[in-house]
Amino acid sequence: MKSLLIDLDKCTGCRSCIVACKSWNKLEPRIENRDQDGIRNAVEKAKGTDKFSDNEFTYIYEKDIKNFYKRQCMHCEDPQCVKNCPAHAIVKYDNGAVVVDKEKCEGVGLCAQVCPFGVPVMAVDKKPVKCTLCYDRITQNPALEPACVKACPSKALKFGDIDEMREYTSKFKYVYGGGVNDSYNSSVIYVSDIPFEKIDFKVAEIHNIANVLEAIKHPVGALTLLGGAALVGLKIYSERVKKVKEGKR
Ligand code: SF4
Ligand code: SF4
Ligand code: SF4
Repeated sequence: MKSLLIDLDKCTGCRSCIVACKSWNKLEPRIENRDQDGIRNAVEKAKGTDKFSDNEFTYIYEKDIKNFYKRQCMHCEDPQCVKNCPAHAIVKYDNGAVVVDKEKCEGVGLCAQVCPFGVPVMAVDKKPVKCTLCYDRITQNPALEPACVKACPSKALKFGDIDEMREYTSKFKYVYGGGVNDSYNSSVIYVSDIPFEKIDFKVAEIHNIANVLEAIKHPVGALTLLGGAALVGLKIYSERVKKVKEGKR
């Protein structure tokens, strides 16, 4: 199992990681011209990014000019998006990556609703998009690391065996991910010597999410156990299925 480690103390907010992500994933703006002006232009454009979209798999959340951090999919160990996908279109791979299979996806959109970190975004084709941990790079050649890791000039991003990354976290006062302080045992780990509150670090935003699919299979028992969250999930699910059936994808 691999892990992406983000050292917040080293991150300068330069956005090279965003540009590299866009280039690898063929999003806009790509670096069309690899001279200094071309790279500068792409970085300037990437500065406008402040939320996930079908064109932004990663962005820098900026509390203020001094306090910021990179966000992307957390690649959870037991992901809500996987558990709640009725089409089994999202897979957690042994290398840590959580990846959407667009061919299998039925466009229900539950993954986007249940993700505790607010990550997947439904694109215009009604298929979710998100960071893939560069699955297509890291499986192509084991020596390759994710594009954002390779591009980071400050070495704020590390990629490697999750046990090695967990060991590395012992140097820091504050850790989130990899099973430390997170309920989702994510394959992405944040480390810092500055308290997370100072940068407005958004840990999981939704807690105790119901397994909506279980609620659908066993409605009475699940609703008793899970309460309101399952009801919300069921409502989202049935409305979405209705729209899909009506051809309003
Ligand atoms: S962060 Fe959200 S999209 Fe990513 S693996 Fe976890 S539940 Fe799925
Ligand atoms: S791991 Fe790949 S897809 Fe994810 S943010 Fe980094 S470059 Fe983008
Ligand atoms: S490339 Fe590295 S230093 Fe620059 S914003 Fe991304 S993580 Fe931070």
